[in-house]
This record gives sequence, structure tokens and C-alpha cells, in this order.
Amino acid sequence: MQRILIIEDETEIAGYLRRGLTLEGFIVEIANDGNTGLAAARENPPDLVVLDLMLPGLDGLEVARRLRAASEVPIIILTARDAVPDRVAGLESGADDYLVKPFAFEELLARIRVQLRRRQSAQQSDVLRYNNLIIDTAAREVRIGDRRVDLTAKEYELLEQFMRHPQQVLTREVIYDRVWGYDFGGESNIIEVYVRYLRQKLEAGGEPRLIQTVRGVGYILREE
Ligand code: CA
Repeated sequence: MQRILIIEDETEIAGYLRRGLTLEGFIVEIANDGNTGLAAARENPPDLVVLDLMLPGLDGLEVARRLRAASEVPIIILTARDAVPDRVAGLESGADDYLVKPFAFEELLARIRVQLRRRQSAQQSDVLRYNNLIIDTAAREVRIGDRRVDLTAKEYELLEQFMRHPQQVLTREVIYDRVWGYDFGGESNIIEVYVRYLRQKLEAGGEPRLIQTVRGVGYILREE
């Protein structure tokens, strides 16, 4: 099921959207202000965000910018202000579409489906490369040079995180959150175990190590 995060301070509108979208089969989460919305998007990344522009505290445009800086999640902006400069600012902030209030629910639903389809086809063609390591995220296939590497589901998910953020340190907390979806606490060695599995499989043909340990912090995908 696809998850939609609604960031909207007007509880009536938020409740109305929640009911409608739930009936359409989406999992809906509501945040009543920008900071709560950003935290919700970090903790449990949604497939799409519906974002009201006029929010208390952190402004909707700023929320859109921060969401976009952190991920490729589709963002549909709701705005009561039917002014061209606002629309332009909305799209420049990284939003994918906007809708002027008041709008018909069916119209929002149609826009949501367009964005989700677009996102899906973008994901399907996603082939990620680093050096001679190639992963096809649609087929979940991994090759290193000419060699096909068979991974378990968790090993694959861990590798995909590294491939999506090459040459970037991934902290243990971020890896737990993105691959296992919850906090194991500081004591678990599950990441170490899975990194060891991954290295064994990726280096089985004598290939150089690509997943490096950053002591006390986490791991990074890069050449030694
Ligand atoms: Ca509002």
C-alpha cells in the first residue's frame, strides 16, 4: 500500500482528505505543522506528500525545500493564494504540482495518481552504478563486472542504500532506520553482520573492497 503524508493545519480539510484517501486504499498520515511533517517524512518516508502552503511556524515553501533536499518524494502543494508568483515559488521550491483551494477531491486524487505513476516509472528505470558494481533496482539484480551476485532481501536493501548515496557516510542510525525501519538500540551488531555478508559476496571474485568502515560512525561506499 502506498503512504501519503498530509501536512495541513486546517483539521477539517486534513480529516476530509484522510477519509477520502483512506477509502481509495492509501495509508494516510497527517501532520498539523511543518516541523512535525518533516519529522514524519524522515521517520517513515511517504510515497507522496500533500503540503499546504499556509502553515503556522515553518512556511510551506520552506517545508517543500527541505523535503526535496532530503528525498525525491513527489510533493503536491495546496494553496489558497491563487497568485502566479506563489505558484512559481511553489514549483521552484521543488514541488511537483499544485492545487488551488478550494478544489474537488477527485481533482486531487487524479493529480496524486499522476505523480505516483511518474515516480514509479522513474524508479523502474533506475539502474545505479558505482565503479563496476551495477544494481537494477526494478529487478533487484546486482552485478559486479560480469559476475552476477545473489543477495538476500536485506542484503540487497542495505546495498541499495549505499548505491543511492555513494561516497557519503551512512551512520548506523540512518542504516537502521532505512533498512530495518526501527531502532535496534546501540547494542545490536546486525549491521556489522550484514556488511560482512555483503563484503563476502561482493569480493568473492577477488574484487577490491567497496564498503568501507568509518570507525565509530558507520559505513561508506567508496574505493579504498
Ligand atoms: Ca493552512
